[in-house]
Amino acid sequence: MEIPTDNGCRQESRRQTWHELIRLITFVDLPIKKKFRLFAVGTIFWFLSMAAVAVVSLTAIHYKYNQIAGHTLPYSQAISKVIVHVQGISSSITQAQQETGDAGARQLESAQSHVKSIRGIISALSLGINSSQGSTGGNLVENFILSMARSDVEGTQYLQRMLTLVEQMDRHISLLQQFRQNPAENAPDIQHILNLLGGQLEEAHTLSASFTESLTGEYTANTQLINEIVRTSIHIILLVLLLATLLLLIFTRWITGAFYKPIDAIINQIHDLGTGKVDLDNKLTIHSKDEMGTLSSEFNELIETVYGMTIFKKVIEEDSTLDEVYRRLGEVFENELGIERYMIYEVNGNKKEMRAGYPPLVGDRKLFCYEDILSDCSLCRAVKTGHTVSSFEFRGVCRQFLPDTGMEHVCIPMMLAGVTGGVVQFLFPSRGEKGHINEVENQQLFKAETYIKQSLSVVETKRLMNTLRESAMVDTLTGLYNRRFLQEHTKQIISGVLRRRKTIGLLLCDIDYFKQINDTFGHDVGDLVLKEAAACMRNSVREADIVIRFGGEEFLILLLDVDQGDAIDVAEKIRVKIGDMKITVPDAVIQKTISIGVSEFPGDTDGFWQAIKFADVALYKAKETGRNKTVRFEPDMWPRKEF
Ligand code: GH3
Ligand code: MG
Ligand code: MG
Repeated sequence: MEIPTDNGCRQESRRQTWHELIRLITFVDLPIKKKFRLFAVGTIFWFLSMAAVAVVSLTAIHYKYNQIAGHTLPYSQAISKVIVHVQGISSSITQAQQETGDAGARQLESAQSHVKSIRGIISALSLGINSSQGSTGGNLVENFILSMARSDVEGTQYLQRMLTLVEQMDRHISLLQQFRQNPAENAPDIQHILNLLGGQLEEAHTLSASFTESLTGEYTANTQLINEIVRTSIHIILLVLLLATLLLLIFTRWITGAFYKPIDAIINQIHDLGTGKVDLDNKLTIHSKDEMGTLSSEFNELIETVYGMTIFKKVIEEDSTLDEVYRRLGEVFENELGIERYMIYEVNGNKKEMRAGYPPLVGDRKLFCYEDILSDCSLCRAVKTGHTVSSFEFRGVCRQFLPDTGMEHVCIPMMLAGVTGGVVQFLFPSRGEKGHINEVENQQLFKAETYIKQSLSVVETKRLMNTLRESAMVDTLTGLYNRRFLQEHTKQIISGVLRRRKTIGLLLCDIDYFKQINDTFGHDVGDLVLKEAAACMRNSVREADIVIRFGGEEFLILLLDVDQGDAIDVAEKIRVKIGDMKITVPDAVIQKTISIGVSEFPGDTDGFWQAIKFADVALYKAKETGRNKTVRFEPDMWPRKEF
């Protein structure tokens, strides 16, 4: 034998843990309903995942697009206009310096109108920024992304600076207009203002150009980001789709496998059952603890029960006696069904008796019913009604059931050819006034009843055989056993007596001058005399003794368990009794005597049939020496000394 090492145990327990973990992950043991729910939840999860990826990416695209369409592009367009106007201011001022009179003034007015235009553009852009920054429109996701986005600091700074520059330019152009009234006098101031204006125009141009450049960069970055988002979302959606398809395929395969495999196996088993090829070693494997697992294990149990019953029937068919059948039935109740207390009664309808068949009433085992039922079986309610009698259904239903036993009874009749041939009484611990039979007991009873039904045909056949055999061993005229009975039961009779170290007294009785009765009164009267003599003999001995009609008017009485030497006294008593017997027939009263030869077994010989022979020898002696006598066998009556 291999002794498991510590290492081996650890490995085994690790394997067990893995096994359990895999069962947990694969939901093998979940009930079918939950498996399908899980399947639906899984499918919905993957759909939602794909939808979530799509919504997030589309919202991001939407936001970026809005940024381009609502910010970058309008800004770029506006700022390119600002640049044109800055250039317009610059050229107007240059021309105003070269022109004199009204033409120059008009140039300054033109410059001022350019300044106005720039101010208009800037205020429009300022409004745009404020409205876009304070926007609360759009959906939840969009607002969330917007809140994450950086605020337009660069644009605000640009606008503020441009506004300052435009105001300064406006003021300086106005001064130029004033100074133009008197140009020669204000020449130095004009030059100073022109210088300042030049710087401001330069700054405005540079600022606008660099901001345009930054916007172009932003535009490029955003379009690249949109491309990136589209590409990534496609990849993620494809990946999710692939993963979902793969998992769904695996799950579908697994879930269909979990169904069709056990169902297939059950179909095969049913097929085998139909063709009688049942192999109990080839049970259905239980893969899961769900409904399919339960179905498989229930099916295994069913097959076992059906097979068990088939085998049970075959076995009891081969049992030779009814008591063996009862014992076998009792063993099934105890070992297979776990019923601890029961009693199988056999009912003898002819004699109106019943007897405890199994378990035997030995030791301190007692019946749970009044013993009256044994001598009058019609007192037993199950026998009388032929229906199951249960105290669970109606307390105190059977008056023969002993009170205060602390037990409930369910008595199932065994119906043989329409009459109650037996009763199986099952006993369960009592559970108070309103106690009901529980599920386990119900199952036990159901199976027990099935076994009882299986046994009925066998019990019926065996009882019929018994009746036939018994009738072949009973003399129809006197009702006594015949010679055949003795032949069949010799062994049984001898072994009991020898075991108990006792003696059998053999009395061979023969009616004296019996032929005269037949001759004088006819055969019918002869028969009557035989019957009366037989009854007299039967009543003269103990119940356990055996009276046999041995031949025509010859009777053999076996006195069981007598002490040595006592048989002759009993014989004498019988002889006197028969001699005193008066039989009244038409026109006469008959009185007959008998002669009896007596021997003892094993006192006289250790051969039983030899002892009968010795009794016959003694009987011959009685006849020879005058009849109406009892003669004890003596060895010298037997000439063949070797016996
Ligand atoms: P013994 O004193 O020598 O015994 O004289 P017996 O007349 O009894 O002589 P025996 O034993 O030879 O006769 C037996 C007779 O019993 C012969 C037979 O006609 C008669 N007998 C045997 N069986 C029956 C039976 O079943 N019914 C009737 N009525 N007579 C029977
Ligand atoms: Mg005779
Ligand atoms: Mg005779």
